[in-house]
Amino acid sequence: MKRRTLLVAGTALVAGAAGAAIGTVASDDAPARPAAGSPVAAAPRSVILLIGDGMDDSMITAARNYSAGAAGRLALDELPATGAMTTYGLLTGPGPDHPIAYVSDSAATASGFSTGRKTVDGRISQGPSSAQDVPGEDHETVLETFARLGRPTGNVSTADITDATPAAAAAHVNARSCQDPTTMDACPSARKSAGGRGSIAEQLVDNEVDVLLGGGRERWDRLLEDGSQTLLDYATTEHGYRAIGTADDLDAVDDLDDGPVLGLFAPNHLTRSYAPLVAARGGATTPDGTCTAQDRGTEPTLRQMTAKAIELLDNPDGFFLQVEGASVDKAEHERDICGAIGELEELDQAVEVALAHQRAHPDTLVIVTGDHAHSTQIVTNDAGGSRTATVLTADGVPMTVAYSSAEGGDPGRSSHTGTQIRVAAVGPQSDRVTGVIDQTDLFAVMTSGLDTGEE
Ligand SMILES: [Mg+2]
Ligand SMILES: [Zn+2]
Repeated sequence: MKRRTLLVAGTALVAGAAGAAIGTVASDDAPARPAAGSPVAAAPRSVILLIGDGMDDSMITAARNYSAGAAGRLALDELPATGAMTTYGLLTGPGPDHPIAYVSDSAATASGFSTGRKTVDGRISQGPSSAQDVPGEDHETVLETFARLGRPTGNVSTADITDATPAAAAAHVNARSCQDPTTMDACPSARKSAGGRGSIAEQLVDNEVDVLLGGGRERWDRLLEDGSQTLLDYATTEHGYRAIGTADDLDAVDDLDDGPVLGLFAPNHLTRSYAPLVAARGGATTPDGTCTAQDRGTEPTLRQMTAKAIELLDNPDGFFLQVEGASVDKAEHERDICGAIGELEELDQAVEVALAHQRAHPDTLVIVTGDHAHSTQIVTNDAGGSRTATVLTADGVPMTVAYSSAEGGDPGRSSHTGTQIRVAAVGPQSDRVTGVIDQTDLFAVMTSGLDTGEE
């Protein structure tokens, strides 16, 4: 394998970030504004939110040890404002007060930072309700606020683009499984034939998100409810989307003048950068202890998708972009330590791209965080949990991880956990992510200075 050096130019980055935090902001295409940290912090012109699904401090530490060494630093470690974020959710019930759920799924958590409100597992940017199959109230998302105010928006993920995290940015439905018109059993009232907003896929394109990049190509060959055309045809003919399918296609897109872009680069989720190393009873490792890169065909990397999205969206009025490294979580569920490390490295490279943009455009707010904690624990080599895997880190030292939350027999999927997670930021309003906050607080931070229609 080729081990990447993830150490960023620490001094330059810190100096740039500090300059943005305390100096006067000026850029070519925006008026000078006071920055975060000044008595009246300015609102950001643009917001880039980077989410590592399931990316908690445990997983960040494991990836750092592997990629940069224990004393090394990832790009996401260099953001100057850092705090802790609680991620709890709610349980269904009569309400209006709903019991607390200490461990949440990606639908509830993404709805939390997208709308500023807590909800129940499985729900996409709707409030809680009496039961899973009873829709809650739709709440406007950060992406929708930016779009309503005429600022372009982007939604990028390494998952199926209709998966829970990207879905919550720009769709509203009571069940995350309602991803296309053929999978609406859990949300009959959301069907367009029932007067609803339709499936998540339909809502993403009905919302005309300017840049939609991810996986899930297979789903877009499915038909609308009335059988008249495929989802992909609906996106291209009804909403003017340009459909692309490879990294080369993505490279060739220069602007949004010819319409929004729908990039679907894999049949389902995008391929992880490393081949799996799955923790097992009695331990698992690779022949030389390192993770092995795997062929990803014509798929772009998350870094490439992020760079292109920023290039396409950047404009004098600002933009909103959500970027998700989705398979940190998916690999952790599978107890695949190499998959999770590789996906976190990918997200970190996307963070580097966002930070470079932020240095050139200091009125951009960049936030890097996770959505909920997960199962990976770093343990001593000879005293791991029931299922362990060992990799050789950049320090040349074996690191063992355990997955004690794995359920049932083999394969035994590991589950989410309920601890608080890290949130970090740079740019205007970044001082508001310090201390201990809740993930719903991110909504107000990201919509600073914008009319959200709320009191
Ligand atoms: Mg996700
Ligand atoms: Zn998960």
